[in-house]
Amino acid sequence: MSRIASLEVRLIKSRLKTKRAQGVGSVERDVKRVVVRLRTASGAEGWGECAPWEVFSGTAEQAAAALDLYLRPLVIGTNPRAIQATLAVCDKALYEHWEAKAALEMALFDLCGKLSNLPVYDLLGGMVRSRIPLSFSLANPDDGADVAMAKAMCADGHRVFKVKTGFSDHENDMRRLARFRKELPADIDLRIDYNQGLAAYDALRCCRDMEVFKPSFIEQPVKRPLIHVMAALTAALDTPVMADESAFTPAEALRVVEARAADIVSVKLMKSGGILAGRKTNAICEAAGIPCYGGTLFEGGIALAAGTHFIAATANMSMGCEFYMPKYAFESDILVENVAVEDGHVIVPHGAGLGIEIDESALKAATLELRG
Ligand SMILES: [Mg+2]
Repeated sequence: MSRIASLEVRLIKSRLKTKRAQGVGSVERDVKRVVVRLRTASGAEGWGECAPWEVFSGTAEQAAAALDLYLRPLVIGTNPRAIQATLAVCDKALYEHWEAKAALEMALFDLCGKLSNLPVYDLLGGMVRSRIPLSFSLANPDDGADVAMAKAMCADGHRVFKVKTGFSDHENDMRRLARFRKELPADIDLRIDYNQGLAAYDALRCCRDMEVFKPSFIEQPVKRPLIHVMAALTAALDTPVMADESAFTPAEALRVVEARAADIVSVKLMKSGGILAGRKTNAICEAAGIPCYGGTLFEGGIALAAGTHFIAATANMSMGCEFYMPKYAFESDILVENVAVEDGHVIVPHGAGLGIEIDESALKAATLELRG
């Protein structure tokens, strides 16, 4: 059996097509990501990626250093099929660093799938869905540009949109929502995400005003630690409340469930530290009758392929996903071919491992720093 012989870490840069504004912070044009390549002695490869966001969780530089300096020695020489055992060693040796661990786990799953000639969803117990509804986030401060974008996407079969609010003031949020409801088709599924942007003292008033626009849910109105405010909003509003920043880990999801601080929970591989921990979060929510949603940070095709396999194989991840970055928000990515999107749904890839192929020249062009 061929053991893991090398771990390569790259810091890469991707350019966004437009500025994106969200409650917690804005991104002008460039996002940094980290790409990991594992290789066995016999030449098999596995790819992983993480996209930390400095106002949300950590930094790309911190994740690259964690992989390069702390996780590399724990992974070299290990059995590529022993994913859980390797991750347990990593968890013991390095506190948190969820994004770095998510990238490593993805690369291990990709490698293990290729060695077994099975897609990752089969390693996870098999597929329960082959297409996932795709939500696109309307986050351009120029709402006229967002209307045009959403209309074009509707013509292409998209029906789910999430409006990013809380980055300016309540009047502007109300005006934007009114415009989207007026100018976009009546049958779209419209959701709202404050990204922690409301002050606790008037969050209920703002959210109540928003209910007139019939959003399917309102996501994370207030700051991450304010579980008691999330619980009060969940109890008071007719509209379901979704927890995102308040539920990073399975332990935090348990706290949300115990406090009845959400009706829906967003699971992100970048928050949980990977697919297996994301499944624990999902299981805690499922036991409490709470469906889950596939959230993201600014991830590209490798991480989104991993998220696609995770949702394909996890029944309670039933609220769709927002895996739109490579196709709709980045100027370019590093895959030979993006994971397919058809009729407003992400199509689960069927190849071995993550079912994707890296464009090595695009990867090289995007690289800021290479270690390993
Ligand atoms: Mg969110």
